Amino acid sequence: MKKRNCFRCGKELQPGGLFYVADIRVLSGFDGILSEPAEGIDQQLKELLEQAERLDPQELEKDVYEEITLIMCKSCRDRFVDEIRNPWEGPFRVRKDPDPLLH
Ligand SMILES: [Zn+2]
Repeated sequence: MKKRNCFRCGKELQPGGLFYVADIRVLSGFDGILSEPAEGIDQQLKELLEQAERLDPQELEKDVYEEITLIMCKSCRDRFVDEIRNPWEGPFRVRKDPDPLLH
């Protein structure tokens, strides 16, 4: 059986032991708004199609849709979830106490 390692800390995960899986899907969004004027769309579309023909289909697909699977140990999972929920709290900027200079 293939050994599993935590993607973050690299710790080997024991067979049958506890581990977590994060399936991340990154999709290109579309809000229904085209930024170019209507008369430019035909030309734009033509250019896009020409561009698409030159690109590797796999690379092109990555632009639109990508799926990443991460395997983590328990402690990395806790940190990972915490960071995703609070992305503005970098590891060196977390302040538990309010800045005393602001008072
Ligand atoms: Zn880990």
